[in-house]
Amino acid sequence: MSSENPVSDDVLREEVRGWLADNWIPEQAAAVGGTERIWGASDELKAWLGKVVEARWAVPSWPVEWFGRGLSASQAKIIIREFASVRAPGAGQDRSSMWANTLLARGTEPLKAKLLGPILKSEVDMCLLYSEPGAGSDLAGIRTRADLQGDHFVVNGQKVWTSGAAIADYGMLIARTDWDVPKHAGISFFFCPMKQPGIEVRPLRQITDESHFNEVFITDAIVPADNLLGGVNTGWKVLQTALAYERSILGDFARGARSGAKESRKEEVLIALAREAGVLEDPALRQEIAQAIAYKKLNSLNNARVKADLEQGTTSPAMSLGKLAMSRILHEEARVRTAILGAQSLFEGSDYPRAEDANFLTLNAYFTSIGGGTDQIQRNIIGERVLGLPKEPEVDTSIPFRDVRTS
Ligand SMILES: Cc1cc2nc3c(=O)[nH]c(=O)nc-3n(C[C@H](O)[C@H](O)[C@H](O)COP(=O)(O)OP(=O)(O)OC[C@H]3O[C@@H](n4cnc5c(N)ncnc54)[C@H](O)[C@@H]3O)c2cc1C
Repeated sequence: MSSENPVSDDVLREEVRGWLADNWIPEQAAAVGGTERIWGASDELKAWLGKVVEARWAVPSWPVEWFGRGLSASQAKIIIREFASVRAPGAGQDRSSMWANTLLARGTEPLKAKLLGPILKSEVDMCLLYSEPGAGSDLAGIRTRADLQGDHFVVNGQKVWTSGAAIADYGMLIARTDWDVPKHAGISFFFCPMKQPGIEVRPLRQITDESHFNEVFITDAIVPADNLLGGVNTGWKVLQTALAYERSILGDFARGARSGAKESRKEEVLIALAREAGVLEDPALRQEIAQAIAYKKLNSLNNARVKADLEQGTTSPAMSLGKLAMSRILHEEARVRTAILGAQSLFEGSDYPRAEDANFLTLNAYFTSIGGGTDQIQRNIIGERVLGLPKEPEVDTSIPFRDVRTS
C-alpha cells in the first residue's frame, strides 16, 4: 500500500475495479450526485465518500498516515479513470480539494487529525475568507486583524464575496497579525470556525438572481491557535499554495446550463443547438461555432500538455493559461449560444429554457473571469512570471503596513 511496497499498474487497476464492482451501484449515481457540488453534500454522497475515504481511494497519492497509499501521480490517475468510467464520485481529491490539500501541506498535526477526514468526506463545509471591501486583487492590503490572546486568536474585520459562507463550518481566513512590517510579511492564515457568535453572515444577491456569496462581519471571533497554518506572519506563502489549487480547479471547472433542458451528449452542444434552431447552415454562425469549439479543444490540449509535464516532474508555462483560457471560452460559448438563438434569446423564464440557459451562462461567465483572481490579474501573472516582463510599479511593498496610505 505504501510507496515502499510498490504495486504494478495492472494489479492496482484490478483492485480498484473489484472494489467498485463490490461497492458502487450505478443506479445510485443520481442520488449521490457528483463531488463538483462544493457545498451541502447529500447524506447519500457523504455515506459514499465515507466508504471511498476509508478504502483509501480519495487521495491515493497522499501518505499512508493521512488516508493515502503513497502512490505516484500516474497511478493515482488510474484510480480517477476507473471511478470516472462508472461515474462514481470521490476519487482524485488529492488534485481537486483545495481545502484538504492546503491543510495537508501547511496544517498543524491536531488540525489535520481533526479535519482532514471530515473535509474529504464532505462532512464539513468550507469557505474562503480572503476578499475585503478594500482588498480583492491586492489581497496583501487586508485589514482584518487577528490578535493572539493566550491559546487563541481574536479576530475582527469584514470580508466580502464569501461564497458558501452561509452554510460553511470553517473558513480559510487571512488576517493581519503584524502592522509594523511590510504588507506581505504581516499576514497569517487560519481555519476559522464559522458557527460562533462573532461571525455574522449576510447574503448578497447576484446578477444571476442567486445568493451564493455573502458579506461576513467578524467581531471578536475566536480562532484556536492550533488552527493557524504555516506559522505566524507566514500566511502569504500559505495563501499562494491555496490560490494555486483554486486556480487550477477553476481552470478545469465550469458550471453548465441551469434550466435542466436536455442537451446533446453525442455532439458539441453548440452544433446541436444550431441544428435544433435550424441555423446550422448559416456560414457566419458556422465560423463562430468552429472558433468556439477550437478554443475549447486547444485548451484541453494545453491542459493535457501541462499534466504530462507535471507527471514528469517539471512545470509548464502553459499552466498559467488554464484559468484565463477557461474564462474566455465561457464568454465565447455564451455569446455564440445567444447568436444562435437570435431574437429568441430576449425571452426569459422556464417556458424558454434555451434562452434562459444562454442568458444565465452569459451572466455567469463573469464568475470565472473575476472569482479566484480577475482576468487582468491573470494576465499580469503571465506577463511577469511567464513572459518575464517588468513588474508593475508598487510603492507600498517595503514600508510598514501601518504607514501605507489609503483613500
Ligand atoms: C463568483 C465569485 C465568487 C467569489 N468568491 C469569493 C470567495 O469565496 N472568497 C473570497 O474571498 N472572494 C471571493 N470572490 C471575490 C474575488 O476574488 C474578487 O472579486 C476578485 O479578486 C477581485 O477583487 P475586487 O472585487 O476587490 O476587485 P478589484 O481588485 O477592486 O478590481 C477592480 C478591477 O480592477 C482591475 N485591477 C485591479 N488591480 C489591477 C492590476 N494590478 N492590474 C490590472 N487590473 C487591475 C481588476 O481586474 C478589476 O477589473 C468571488 C468573486 C466572484 C465573482
